[in-house]
Amino acid sequence: MDKLLSVVVSVYNEELALREFYLETGRILNALPAPWTYELLFVNDGSADGSLKILREFAKENPRVKIVNFSRNFGHEAAMIAGIDHARGDGIICMDADLQHPPECIFKILEKFDAGYEVISMVRTRNKTAGAIKNFTSAAFYRLINRLSDVKFEANASDFFAMNRAAADVLRNNYREKVRFLRGYVQSVGFEKTILEYEARPRFAGESKYSLKSLFRFSINTILCFSDLPLKLGIYSGCAVALFGLLVMVYTIYTWAKFGAPSGYATIVVLISFMFAMLFVIVGIIGEYIAILFAELKDRPIYIVKDTENLENTSISTSKL
Ligand code: UDP
Ligand code: MG
Repeated sequence: MDKLLSVVVSVYNEELALREFYLETGRILNALPAPWTYELLFVNDGSADGSLKILREFAKENPRVKIVNFSRNFGHEAAMIAGIDHARGDGIICMDADLQHPPECIFKILEKFDAGYEVISMVRTRNKTAGAIKNFTSAAFYRLINRLSDVKFEANASDFFAMNRAAADVLRNNYREKVRFLRGYVQSVGFEKTILEYEARPRFAGESKYSLKSLFRFSINTILCFSDLPLKLGIYSGCAVALFGLLVMVYTIYTWAKFGAPSGYATIVVLISFMFAMLFVIVGIIGEYIAILFAELKDRPIYIVKDTENLENTSISTSKL
């Protein structure tokens, strides 16, 4: 019996890379070992350039190419889960459209599927493409989150991963958070897991869509979503400050008894500034959690599909399955 492999690709303004991606990936997919056949599912994440037109050309000449077209840009995370939602494969691979994830790895992934593995994380051995700042901040982020969270994250895991239908079903049904970190879910769902190493290629064309600022925002949200430790910061610092206050009180009474009323303008100003700064930071952290709660409570769709191509099941129009 045939087995279907779904390759999910998120696309945002990739007109310069798409043809090369299709050519290279198509070559690999047409040479899959039996019993594997494929579908190539592109999610167009509101591209403003000619990406959609190019994708429609592919879909016209090849019915195995499918398109999910968003109503606007919803971001990479939304595009990946939309692809997983619409994929019908026994095995699903998520990858980027810029050829940073080498398509020849697909063969190795299939070997792992055939060996019975259910979740396969692709780990970068080297990232020649990202600058020193990105590499450093990424390492710092993983150190921090591994400290704060119960889930142990693979530091060099990428948005390149594969899973079987059972694992994908868990993501489809149970991980519908609005503030999302798909890579984290993939690593925390369990199942028979393995990792494969790969060397990231440089981006084929165009520019990275993630700025340092958006990565920072993304990292903060991820830490908050996977850990409630920052929320408890208030209690810890409250206790520390109370202890400190007690010591200052004892000291003040002592100097008062010995030398009369102490004058301490500078001390007071420094202490008040310090205490207020800490208070505001803690209030800010609580605010961040409330913002996430607010987003979840509003329960707006993770993505909105405008139309699809070569997909029979078009009943899924938003993320709310
Ligand atoms: N992408 C997307 N929506 C976005 C931003 C990016 O679908 O809002 C896609 C993009 O087309 C690419 C993948 O996500 O296929 C990874 O983006 P990029 O290469 O810019 O990120 P990097 O590899 O630099 O982390
Ligand atoms: Mg990239």
